[in-house]
Amino acid sequence: MPTFFCPKCWKEVEEGCKVCPYCNFSFESFDRLSYEEKLISALNHPVDEFKINAINVLGRIGGEKAVNALEKFVERENSVPVLLEVVKALKLMSSRVDRALDVLKKLENHRARVVAKSAKRARDEVLRGT
Ligand SMILES: [Zn+2]
Repeated sequence: MPTFFCPKCWKEVEEGCKVCPYCNFSFESFDRLSYEEKLISALNHPVDEFKINAINVLGRIGGEKAVNALEKFVERENSVPVLLEVVKALKLMSSRVDRALDVLKKLENHRARVVAKSAKRARDEVLRGT
């Protein structure tokens, strides 16, 4: 039997529900979200692997909305591998959305040094055009 998860709180729910019994999220409204918005909602997934995959795709296709979501996301995220993926995604997105560079600049002050360093390297590379 397939298992279904609420895309907002990621608790297991029964097939065929219209709203999540845990967080009240409407699955019908989720169906109407764009692909980018669905990826953004995967940033709340409890498993890092899922978040990393979503961030990776956002890096390739994401626009302004994704940059704004990632900016808020990095304030609450603590996992270094996930944050490093955000840095990579922002670097890619900077060719489409200028603000991605501002978010990278903020990340240069991140408390995790490896994240701060990689953000600085990514921004330098963008500015140099490499
Ligand atoms: Zn839910």
